[in-house]
Amino acid sequence: MTHPLTPSAAWQQMQDGNRRFVADEPQHPNQNVARRKDLTAAQHPVATLFGCADSRLAAEIIFDLGLGDLFVVRNAGQVMGESIVASLEYAVAVLEVPLIVVLAHDSCGAVRAAIDGTAIDAAPLPPHIWKLIAPIVPAARKVLAENGGTTVADIDAELVGIEHLRNTVRDLLQSSEIISNAVAEGRLGIVGANYRLAEGAAVPVITVGIDADGVNNEGTDVTKEGSE
Ligand SMILES: [Zn+2]
Repeated sequence: MTHPLTPSAAWQQMQDGNRRFVADEPQHPNQNVARRKDLTAAQHPVATLFGCADSRLAAEIIFDLGLGDLFVVRNAGQVMGESIVASLEYAVAVLEVPLIVVLAHDSCGAVRAAIDGTAIDAAPLPPHIWKLIAPIVPAARKVLAENGGTTVADIDAELVGIEHLRNTVRDLLQSSEIISNAVAEGRLGIVGANYRLAEGAAVPVITVGIDADGVNNEGTDVTKEGSE
């Protein structure tokens, strides 16, 4: 059985929910006892979401969805890793979700820590935390180099967050044949979006295999710098 939604229709459903959330008109769908009972035999989520663990990015709330709607994987800074790839592959291969949403956000503490960690005199972080956020450091160095800065204070954290989001989507495609094949076959789309804390809007930054806001180019930036 193939999933009833196309990648574009799945993203449309998520965008509709996010617009309701932004407008303070949520419907809180699929959160009652009937829905809970419907789901006991099986789940057919609209999408899988891989996002930062930040408490302000509560996935079902910001996309106005409910039980059984999202297969959610999160860690601090949405950093790729074996367990992340495996979980997303499960969603694609077994649950046949048509969409992966990678969700970053502004004012991310993990991005901030990675930027601060590039300083020569940076205080050492606890080893597990450093191991997690180290993959964000190349994005910080790239932004510093491209903007001609020399110190941590010269690094624009929001640009680093967007660069890290692009890297994450690219790494996901490169690290999983199941995912890259599903995209190539048109069964799966990926949207890298940046969540804006103040407005509550999930703004698409990079898309792969999906038409988002009129753009349908693999790896194309929908909004440069993901803002304004
Ligand atoms: Zn974060």
